[in-house]
Amino acid sequence: MTNRLEHLIAANEALKAEIAKRIVDTARSECDALISEENPNPVMRVTSDGAVLYANQSASVLLAHWHINIGDRLPDEWRVIVVEAANGKQADEHELRCAGKIFSLTVLAVVDADYVNIYGRDITSFKETEDQIVNFDDLTGLPNRALFQDRLHQVLSYARRSGKLAAVHLINLDRFKEINETLGRNIGDALLQGIASRLLNCIRTSDTVARLGGDEFGIIQVEPNDNDGVAILAQKLLSSLKQPFEIDGHTIYSAASIGITVFPDDAQSPDDVLRNADLALSYGKSNDRGNYRFFVAQMHDDIQRRRSIEEDMRGGLERGEFVLHYQPKLHIGSNRITGMEALIRWNHPEQGFMSPAEFIPVAERSKLIVPMGEWVLREACTRNKAWTDAGLGPVKVAVNLSAVQFHQDGLVEMIKHTLDDTGLDPTQLELEITESLAMRDAEASIELCTRLSEFGVSLSIDDFGTGYSSLSYLKNFPVQRIKIDKAFVDDIDGKDDSGGIARAVTTLGHSFGMEITAEGVETEEQLVFLDSLGCDEIQGYYFSRPLPDAEFEEFLKNFENTWALRLSQERRQGIDRRNWLKAQSTS
Ligand code: C2E
Ligand code: CA
Ligand code: CA
Repeated sequence: MTNRLEHLIAANEALKAEIAKRIVDTARSECDALISEENPNPVMRVTSDGAVLYANQSASVLLAHWHINIGDRLPDEWRVIVVEAANGKQADEHELRCAGKIFSLTVLAVVDADYVNIYGRDITSFKETEDQIVNFDDLTGLPNRALFQDRLHQVLSYARRSGKLAAVHLINLDRFKEINETLGRNIGDALLQGIASRLLNCIRTSDTVARLGGDEFGIIQVEPNDNDGVAILAQKLLSSLKQPFEIDGHTIYSAASIGITVFPDDAQSPDDVLRNADLALSYGKSNDRGNYRFFVAQMHDDIQRRRSIEEDMRGGLERGEFVLHYQPKLHIGSNRITGMEALIRWNHPEQGFMSPAEFIPVAERSKLIVPMGEWVLREACTRNKAWTDAGLGPVKVAVNLSAVQFHQDGLVEMIKHTLDDTGLDPTQLELEITESLAMRDAEASIELCTRLSEFGVSLSIDDFGTGYSSLSYLKNFPVQRIKIDKAFVDDIDGKDDSGGIARAVTTLGHSFGMEITAEGVETEEQLVFLDSLGCDEIQGYYFSRPLPDAEFEEFLKNFENTWALRLSQERRQGIDRRNWLKAQSTS
């Protein structure tokens, strides 16, 4: 189609040049030669003030369109053009749509004559091809973004006048890039065509489906009754796209996310409507893929906040606004501090200390977590080396690894490098990955653990119990430690069946030769219970919150004289109480 357009453009240019040449240097007789019955194009001669002297057969459609006959004057707007031409203005082309056709008219003064000639050309097919290219997508034949926006304007102004609703659904495929890369472009293209036809099948004829670019489609839903009607269409679109596609012997599963906005509830102008739908889409994609999501105003604030955090974070890393706090981990059996977890804190210049729960997800999304994670590792190793050298160790420092870092090339080399640079013994470093990450990327985790353990670094599974993985699957993982998530420690509340998950995880983990750490221990009761299970380590507010490094150092120094004593007493009492209770209940 592009070739055809190029050809037409060339032909059009040639004709224009030919006409221009005649204007400049040809004699009156040559101009007049074009004025003839034989000319298949409409031609006319008019007086220099716009009365028609002659029109050939083809020009009769123009006269009919203007409701005039030979001898009558042209409509005002054309008369103006004629007068200008007669006064020597350079000729221009003017478009005229009539009788289902599109004509281009050129008004030319003739040298030494008191009349002007009007030469017309039928440019209908040129215009249609141009329109097809300008307004429709080559691959799917659907309207493109330009036409989509045009229609949106029309639909919204109609909705505004009639008081009806309109909805925009923006649809983005969840795995298109992957399919394109693994199966090739031809299959990717065929999939897009398949998707276009499924989308068309879901809508009513008054609705519009467009391909907005790449793997993004848009639908304008005209006059839904209410939000339920909008949700029903979104659900229908999702279910239709979920059905597998058979292409070239491949069964392809594709899923999509949809961002929706409803007019006039969410926004007034077409631009705002599109922007809101886009916001809802990206919101959905990062939180809950494969679903539809309606725009809500809160999204603006969230995105705004996320953006400003992201911006501040970049500079903050350079300005040294981040610090590490350390939370001690108590080895129950020996009543000693055998480790600590390094937890990042951001001392934001305006907002004060900000929780990692707030900025880590933003850092992950923007990939800033990579340099940030490197900084955390280096800082934690440097600090731990200094404490060891000062005779306060040995204690193992645990550092959290995020999913983005986990997939970073050269992670193991980076860790090795950091250990070399800081001089920390690799056995004094532990890396924590979450259960969901470990299970999602089982093979990668197993490989990483193996490579790390080759030079002495250990790995633990964080937040265990939240990822719904089967406990027996654990034995495939060469990890040294499992951290029971706080939620299951909270569950230890003295009631009859409390602490069941903590018990199961401890028993099974031990049977696979792993150590168990319980997170978020806040009460003596929990400590006593975990002790009775044989849980190896505990971490929690019960005996320390995460501390700035100077305070943590003090904590280490004073531990033997304060906590170690108190804990051993309390533990003894606690266990005695437990035995006493047990004795009471069995007697
Ligand atoms: P996490 O790895 O599960 O860390 C444990 C969180 O529980 C910490 O929150 C800690 O302060 C908190 N906590 C410990 N004991 C108790 C307790 O007894 N009660 C209560 N209510 N909470 C307790 P924090 O420091 O806010 O960190 C939150 C999360 O942020 C961490 O969860 C971790 O996922 C992430 N994070 C923190 N630092 C880093 C880091 O350097 N890198 C990465 N990638 N993530 C980090
Ligand atoms: Ca952790
Ligand atoms: Ca955790």
